[in-house]
Order: sequence, then structure tokens, then C-alpha cells
Amino acid sequence: MFVAGCRWCFRKDRPLFYNSNNGAKIMKLRGYWYTRHSVCSSRVKWLCGDSRLRDCHAIVVTIGHTMVDKQNKHTHPPG
Ligand SMILES: [Zn+2]
Repeated sequence: MFVAGCRWCFRKDRPLFYNSNNGAKIMKLRGYWYTRHSVCSSRVKWLCGDSRLRDCHAIVVTIGHTMVDKQNKHTHPPG
């Protein structure tokens, strides 16, 4: 359960970064896969990897290895 203002709560939201077979940057967070959408300075915006298949508009923003923002909810379970 997320508690506003609790910095330690972000630790369980630590994203994991990978390279896909075609060399694209991908990221896994809490069971969901994301594909890199855009980079602005050090902020990287990630789109849900199932966005096209599932009409899902979940977005996560990371700086380094820390999640700093997320928008929208997934329309589907992880996996
Ligand atoms: Zn999604």
C-alpha cells in the first residue's frame, strides 16, 4: 500500500532495466513490462509494453534507476 510522503515505499517500485532482443531498452516494474518512449534530459518516459495490444495508457517516468512519476492505471493484470 502506497503511503504519501514515505520515501522508503518507493523501494518496492524499483524498476529493472533490460535490453530486448532487437536492442531496444525495456523496463520491468511490479510485473509489468515497459518500452522506452522518450527521453528528456535525464528523465525517461516509459510506455506500457502492452499499450497497443491492450489499449493501455500506463506511463512511468524514471531518473536513473528511480521511478519518479507514473500516470494512468493498467487496463490489464501484469504479465
Ligand atoms: Zn499496461
